[in-house]
Amino acid sequence: MSRVYNFSAGPAVLPEEVLREAAEEMMDYKGSGMSVMEMSHRSKVYDGIIKEAEADLRELMNIPDNYKVLFLQGGASQQFAMIPMNLMKNKKAAYIVTGQWAKKAFQEAQNYGEAVKVASSEDETFSYIPDCSDLDIPEDADYVYICENNTIYGTKYKTLPNTKGHTLVADVSSCFLSEPVDVSKYGIIYGGVQKNIGPAGVVIVIIREDLITEDTLPGTPTMLKYKTHADADSLYNTPPAYGIYVCGKVFKWLKKMGGLSAMKERNEEKAKILYDFLDESKMFKGTVRKEDRSLMNVPFVTGDKELDAKFVKEAEAAGFVNLKGHRTVGGMRASIYNAMPKEGVEKLVAFMKKFEEEN
Ligand SMILES: *Cc1c(COP(=O)(O)O)cnc(C)c1O
Repeated sequence: MSRVYNFSAGPAVLPEEVLREAAEEMMDYKGSGMSVMEMSHRSKVYDGIIKEAEADLRELMNIPDNYKVLFLQGGASQQFAMIPMNLMKNKKAAYIVTGQWAKKAFQEAQNYGEAVKVASSEDETFSYIPDCSDLDIPEDADYVYICENNTIYGTKYKTLPNTKGHTLVADVSSCFLSEPVDVSKYGIIYGGVQKNIGPAGVVIVIIREDLITEDTLPGTPTMLKYKTHADADSLYNTPPAYGIYVCGKVFKWLKKMGGLSAMKERNEEKAKILYDFLDESKMFKGTVRKEDRSLMNVPFVTGDKELDAKFVKEAEAAGFVNLKGHRTVGGMRASIYNAMPKEGVEKLVAFMKKFEEEN
């Protein structure tokens, strides 16, 4: 067996310990005589798995009792519609557009009401987070929407926007569980798990209870109402059962690693190794305003497309894979999620140094 250092933005690296455990339990989950994949989601055994996953997530994030945790499908992209369908009572919402994912959510919301772009960083290719301390937010906006960590551009909000009393909704797909958060500041926190938590196919929605109502936009399908899933504890229909089971294992791993404060420290240490090198390198440059840098996604360029391509190719041959930047940005991007070991980043930097000397 040979494992590479996988810098993919998602689906992405998972802790080896989790993969090994899942492999060991593949044929016979704890004496049940079957794999979790083969199990009824209504069984006692599975009920234990999903309940324990939720309890561990609640503990990790310190989720207050007046929030529901939902394990859903449809990816983060389905939430782009589900959020306005469920929350746009006044048919108006404010969007801060800091990248492609925020833009997609903003565009989708226009199908359901008036989505108002209150700030954007598109003028400089989304390389920074706009000042959100005093935005012109419509009085009757139902919520303020952000993408907290911009996977493609490598920016992250270091302070949350001043929503002026409006409900904050955040897509945290690519920074989920990377550091502690104060859940009570949000109405909804959600994310696809395939970036920093588990296998593709699960989206986790943490939602304040007062936002879960029957009063959705006319025509909202049963499956797209938060209430449907909240009332049924995420078991209204067959959930992405195996994916939730792997997420549960990752939650246990995070607890063992010391929880989210410890992860933050570890992630800061890892990111610093890479950013410090980018700041001193004559060949490689980070593309993002320093104070807005993400701990999870680190885009960089050489300034020469051919050299970028050469680097990506040689890196891959050396066991550092998926470093090619997003097709809309070019260059390189190293995603260094929770499960990327520090050693992976150190070795990548050593490889970059060597490449710089040789080219
Ligand atoms: C990957 C990503 C998405 C899209 O996720 P899907 O699960 O593929 O729909 C949305 N938002 C952010 C921030 C992402 O990183």
